[in-house]
Amino acid sequence: MINRRRLLATSGALLALAACRTKLDETQEMLARAKTLIARQPSFDLHAHPGRTFLRGAENLSLSLKALSLGGANEEQAIADMQAGGMQCAVFSAVSDLQVLELGRGGLSASRNFKAGEAFASYRTQIDHLNKLFDAGLAEKIISPDDVYSISAKQSTKALLGVEGGDFLEGSILRVEEAYADGVRCITPVHYRHNEIGDTMTAEAVHQGISQAGVSVIKAMNKAGIIIDIAHASEQTALGMLEASEAPVFCSHAHIRTDALDAPRFISQDLAKQIAQAGGVIGAWPAGIGISDLNGFIDRVFELIDIVGIDHVGLGTDMDANYKPVWDNYRQFPEVVAGLLSRGLSEVDAAKVIGGNGIRVFRAVAQS
Ligand SMILES: [Zn+2]
Repeated sequence: MINRRRLLATSGALLALAACRTKLDETQEMLARAKTLIARQPSFDLHAHPGRTFLRGAENLSLSLKALSLGGANEEQAIADMQAGGMQCAVFSAVSDLQVLELGRGGLSASRNFKAGEAFASYRTQIDHLNKLFDAGLAEKIISPDDVYSISAKQSTKALLGVEGGDFLEGSILRVEEAYADGVRCITPVHYRHNEIGDTMTAEAVHQGISQAGVSVIKAMNKAGIIIDIAHASEQTALGMLEASEAPVFCSHAHIRTDALDAPRFISQDLAKQIAQAGGVIGAWPAGIGISDLNGFIDRVFELIDIVGIDHVGLGTDMDANYKPVWDNYRQFPEVVAGLLSRGLSEVDAAKVIGGNGIRVFRAVAQS
């Protein structure tokens, strides 16, 4: 009897060990598949601040923002992480309203107005510092969709210049052209501050939609070939941008509101569907709101796919300046892709999410 019991216990333990091994093998196999996919398909992070370049040369920031910026700027590390994880290309974003941002209990908001010339001076400083990354050979600057595909001998990291917040434009279409000349290819017209273009989603509306100057700016962005990123805009302003734009748009880092999950930065399912109907893409955002790990993030990616379809979902990591990130290092990129594959996403569909959809929109914007 004792022998039989011992035998059963031993075989049970062996079975558990075998199951554990199989699970481990499966995880390893999935990671290997993810890495192969990443090596073969272009990847494109729709919104990021790798290494927090926006902090360089920034003076007179609010104390709360300074406290948030612990660690300062370190692009070299971020780009090394991008290369290690296989993230090929990202929108490297300046932050247009940086000078006036403050962190309160309700999150970030604009605490004051800009002084004359301050927003544009801040833009210049940030763009100059971003351009230095290219001069230093840390990354290659993307100015056309074909650049995403051109793999240089060094397999270097590719950066598309973006500006989060259209505050520096001050409602001027000439500034849109100037930004294009600087190499900027993506602008988020509204960030945390109500500006000349429209309302932010995180403060009570003042414009009740897009302004007249905003419509002109959107049309000028279409004409120049700059991607319009409607993330952060109030629903009414976002709908106004969609209506004014002839080209598809980004909503670079967001999530949809559901019965279970709501937050000021989430968009309505209706807006998400309209972005998709206009051919755009929504970047799934790995912020720890209602989720606490990568698995939760993968859930939310699938939730987004269910609502807007596989052709309209991308990744918008907000890396190195994200709110409670559940994905905080590009080295985890293969884990994200493995998560998508292991939950049944085909390799063709995973390729769309990690870059294909974003590149399609970039191409449509450049050609419109
Ligand atoms: Zn951002």
